Amino acid sequence: MNLSWQQAIGIDQTYLVECQSGSKNYLIHPSIQPDLALLLSAAKSDDVPIATISSYRSFEQQLSIWNEKWQGYRPVFSRHGRPLNITQMSDMEKYKAISLWSALPGLSRHHWGTDLDIFSADAIKKGHKVELIPEEFALTGVCCELNDWLDKNLSKYGFFRPYQNYQQGVSAEAWHISHIAISEQIQKAFPFKQCSDYLGKSDICSSQFIADRFDHYCSQYFNNICQPPVIARRNDAAISLSDTGSNPTQ
Ligand SMILES: [Zn+2]
Repeated sequence: MNLSWQQAIGIDQTYLVECQSGSKNYLIHPSIQPDLALLLSAAKSDDVPIATISSYRSFEQQLSIWNEKWQGYRPVFSRHGRPLNITQMSDMEKYKAISLWSALPGLSRHHWGTDLDIFSADAIKKGHKVELIPEEFALTGVCCELNDWLDKNLSKYGFFRPYQNYQQGVSAEAWHISHIAISEQIQKAFPFKQCSDYLGKSDICSSQFIADRFDHYCSQYFNNICQPPVIARRNDAAISLSDTGSNPTQ
């Protein structure tokens, strides 16, 4: 299938399909649907049912998250979950602090419909308020059992965790899963030029500072992901990005 640059940066969601998790609906890339269904039903039959917390997110939604954090209207945390006072920070400090947990609009993997944040459905049923913090997936956390299951099974269904470990970019996010084959294809053909142009015309705070950091963001965060295990199952559904002008050096 073809993916336009608008679809890759989250400004066209017409190709996505709707799924249901509990009473919530969410949007995903149609090509991940069969693998996701298998993953969810396998987890359920192994008694670790999965709830989807978020999947597709638009450019506009990501822009709001980023700007609210930049302006101090939304909490910003350190890598270890300590709340930070962003209003006291320089632009460079803010950029680094926010990038630990939030992507620049246009460069979020959540724009693709291939990536999901997941949680233990049982913990939610028991009243746990979802925070998506490392403690929830640690040994004593409410998602410990799910975390173990994901370690053993995720790749069998064609998924991986791009933020499995911290490697000087995005913080470790045990809850963030990604469809290997489809996300790899989108990442490889990503339309950096169109993304940078679109971001430059958006209402992002400190836009010149961000424009100057765009290449840095791409290498330090966007392309700096943990690789899927080589034994993982990959399906060969091909995606080509039409008219992307992608830059192979980034
Ligand atoms: Zn995520």
